[in-house]
Amino acid sequence: MSSYSEDKVAGSFGSFPKGFGYGPDENDTDTQASSSEHKPRILLMGLRRSGKSSIQKVVFHKVSPNETLFLESTNKIVKEDITNCSFVKFQVWDLPGQIDFHDSIYEECEAIIFVIDSQDEYMDALAKLNATVSKAHRINPGIKFEVFIHKVDGLSDDHKIEAQRDIHHRASDNLAEEGLENLHLSFYLTSIYDHSIFEAFSKVVQKLIPQLPVMENLLNILISNSGIEKAFLFDVISKIYIATDSSPVDMQTYEICCDMIDVVIDMSHIYGVKDDAAFDTKSASIIKLNNGTVMYLREVNRYLALVCIMREDSFEKQGVIDYNFLCFRQAIQDVFEVKPCSGHASMALTSSSDFPQANGAIK
Ligand code: GDP
Repeated sequence: MSSYSEDKVAGSFGSFPKGFGYGPDENDTDTQASSSEHKPRILLMGLRRSGKSSIQKVVFHKVSPNETLFLESTNKIVKEDITNCSFVKFQVWDLPGQIDFHDSIYEECEAIIFVIDSQDEYMDALAKLNATVSKAHRINPGIKFEVFIHKVDGLSDDHKIEAQRDIHHRASDNLAEEGLENLHLSFYLTSIYDHSIFEAFSKVVQKLIPQLPVMENLLNILISNSGIEKAFLFDVISKIYIATDSSPVDMQTYEICCDMIDVVIDMSHIYGVKDDAAFDTKSASIIKLNNGTVMYLREVNRYLALVCIMREDSFEKQGVIDYNFLCFRQAIQDVFEVKPCSGHASMALTSSSDFPQANGAIK
């Protein structure tokens, strides 16, 4: 990964949430009220010690992977209610592997993440997966099934591929025996020790966002009109990307974007104005790398940030990019029907030379 030759972190950092948790937020009462009515629900399941609690802690609670070594084993249903994240509203139910669940658990859930420990003997896990999938599908045919082949940090590249092939093959065979050959399972190789767990979670969450194609399209329009190479729309706290443009995702690019969010959040946490409202439309950060690329972060709302990567010469037209970003942000807000914030008027488009040529902007 490139080292930073010049770090220029600009803008107001009071905007990012000061606490890193997802606890209740007094400024967010209407979000909470509406979110409690309908919310996609993800169940996180798997055998004991497969890594469920660790995944949840690392992705949503900023626990470092090493600290999970000392987590107590799951022995009760933990209903993790992530209400404070306005766009990614979902619940993770961390469930012990041994308990037979009541049918109602499946009725309202939209996706099941089944975690399989790839470093352990996985025949039991596959049997459990099969039983879970056939039962859940019978009760609720709309459920999406996501299988995390987890702890792959301990496997060589060859072993990873082999484990995935073997698990995929056996799981499909088991389902076929039950007459469920058309049921689709998605497989991901994951580890909490690298970004694969965030990437997998991103894909799972994206499937549950009906507005995804619209957002992808907006991102495509944004990058093609602004000379941007890659753009991610991030849920800032979890570093899950809820959308990206349609060019392929390169893991290194995603990782460096995650790192940028960490830098900005840390700066915000240390130097942010304490009693500033957590929302600030002017939040931005620019990092120039020594390989001629520029990373640009802009806050979309209090939970989402746009992070883009572009060549240094494309960034010379920052005015165009900023203007296009404003159009993009407005469109995203329209998509989610977020009530407009009065702070919008204070965007930093003051100089007339900042305005783009009409054909450079998003219509
Ligand atoms: P749970 O019972 O399913 O909730 O499992 P835990 O979250 O308690 O994890 C069991 C053990 O697996 C812990 O010691 C974790 O540190 C370890 N673990 C979790 N995820 C990973 C991973 O991605 N790689 C490795 N090597 N160990 C992991």
